[in-house]
Amino acid sequence: MLATIRQQFSSLVDLLLPSTCPLCSTRLGSGHHDTFCPDCLSGITPLPEARCPLCALPFITEQGSAHLCGECLRKRPPFSRVTAVGIYDGALRSAIHRFKYQGAIDLDQPLADLLRQSLEVAPDFNPPDLIIPVPLHASRLRERTYNQSLLLARKLGRPWGVPVPTRRLLRIRPSETQQGLSASARHHNLKGAFALSDPLQGERVLLIDDVMTTGATVHECARALRAGGASEVSVAVLARAPRHH
Ligand SMILES: [Zn+2]
Ligand SMILES: [Zn+2]
Repeated sequence: MLATIRQQFSSLVDLLLPSTCPLCSTRLGSGHHDTFCPDCLSGITPLPEARCPLCALPFITEQGSAHLCGECLRKRPPFSRVTAVGIYDGALRSAIHRFKYQGAIDLDQPLADLLRQSLEVAPDFNPPDLIIPVPLHASRLRERTYNQSLLLARKLGRPWGVPVPTRRLLRIRPSETQQGLSASARHHNLKGAFALSDPLQGERVLLIDDVMTTGATVHECARALRAGGASEVSVAVLARAPRHH
């Protein structure tokens, strides 16, 4: 009885407020909310099997995916792995662009759902103890008015019941824009940019960012978290870009 009423009610909601794909506005079938349409989903390029097992850098050649990339071999990163929904192109790139720069904050749920699925497929998946978004400096936050990584982190934490502290990892120094800088200049630019408000006590932290390119930002954040007492830092990003982007 109750189920029937609920079903009728949800059909009524579909009728009055038909839900559409947040990316292309195609009408979704009834019972679908906060999700991308099949066309947009098929426009997302998953990471190739051949990639670095630590930093998820896609390899150019198909063979030999079990080895680390040159960068991770030279210097072991402070995080244990990187998970991404896909490559930074196509539908994923447009979705991130709208989510980050065009105020489309309602993309937080469908994007967080994709990221959660990418994390949960790992056979050894366990929810983390804490989810921490890459912070924006206060001046950047005022300009942008919201931190897209925090919005994602909150949507990710809710179904797992994992806390998302917002002012634990702080960006204490504004950095010059990273665009157009070489990898080593990016690392240098971010040195000492992040700090913890309170030490951690051995928690396993999942660090959230939108796009990983050179990895300079997540490297610096993960380093601050490990130095501050995290027992493990893993990274989840919406998209992974090859380094030459
Ligand atoms: Zn669509
Ligand atoms: Zn690597």
